Amino acid sequence: MSRFWSKLAAGLSPYVPGEQPRGERLVKLNTNENPYPPAPGVLAAIAETSGSSLKRYPDPDSSELRAAFARREGLDAGQVFLGNGSDEVLAHAFQGLLKHDRPLAFPDISYSFYPVWSSLYDVPFTQVPLTSDFRVDVQAFPKDCGSIIVPNPNAPTGVLLGLDDIRQLLQAHADAVVVIDEAYIDFGGESATRLIPEYDNLLVVQTASKSRSLAGLRVGVAFGQEHLIEGLVRIKDSFNSYPMDVVSQQAMLASLADEQWFQDCCTRVIQTRERTAASMATLGFEVLPSAANFLFASHPQVAARDLFARLRERQIIVRYFDKTRISEFLRISIGTDEEMDALLGALEDIL
Ligand code: PMP
Repeated sequence: MSRFWSKLAAGLSPYVPGEQPRGERLVKLNTNENPYPPAPGVLAAIAETSGSSLKRYPDPDSSELRAAFARREGLDAGQVFLGNGSDEVLAHAFQGLLKHDRPLAFPDISYSFYPVWSSLYDVPFTQVPLTSDFRVDVQAFPKDCGSIIVPNPNAPTGVLLGLDDIRQLLQAHADAVVVIDEAYIDFGGESATRLIPEYDNLLVVQTASKSRSLAGLRVGVAFGQEHLIEGLVRIKDSFNSYPMDVVSQQAMLASLADEQWFQDCCTRVIQTRERTAASMATLGFEVLPSAANFLFASHPQVAARDLFARLRERQIIVRYFDKTRISEFLRISIGTDEEMDALLGALEDIL
């Protein structure tokens, strides 16, 4: 196991990839994927692309796709950067955009890859504790930090920051690059992309993996003023001057073309999340208010590790967080209504 993965593994419950043990039907609620398929046009675009264009190199600038993303956000194509999943976009930011001479600040807790990338790319970092009710405290970020990264909604809590808070952060740290990681923004939050024309220190990162059901394709995007985007392009060119493959570009264009499908899937996930949260509360769970496609919940009587194990015996996989102050919490991805009924039935049985 590489140093990178062993570091990650130290803090998390075991990762269970897509494959299922033979003969076992798993309810997989552990990696925040979307339970619904991508828009029908995506599948058509993939089928059409594979015949005609695979023998050619992709457009190195992904011009058509960048223009489509820009149109959706009311920005210019020069304010859009694409990568293979938002993990790659974020890694480029850590490598080339975030300051290396002053600390990067991010909430404790937040996305587990931030300390990993900080170590890999020699970015000094400091962590800002959440409030006692698990909110990101924008007042608590140190004055001398060179960069800031905040997931919004936060992961793994699901708790949302409003745009007023983000504005405060941008204003108080005008000489820091502020990255807002919006992997889960479409499940109930308001994107900070509309602040980009006002703030030259803001980079917003999004993904097609969650709200667009395209985790298997690897499409990530960053929005920001041109000088920040140029900083990312410089890093990208030194690795892979083709940011995205032909199939992903065509499939993503098709996804952006079907706004109705996207909105409908998000609405269904939100409705299922709210219903599941209410049912878990009646079972005695403390459930944090979530604006994401997962719930973060703890039970006063049963440890998260035990709940994880007992759900696993019932073919349901969720996630718990070990060796942190949140060790009593489970993180449960929102699946279909049927999957969440299976979860609720199993929890009733266990408790
Ligand atoms: N940011 C956050 C907060 C995430 O939870 C994830 C998914 N695990 C990502 C970024 C990366 O997602 P992807 O690489 O699939 O775009």
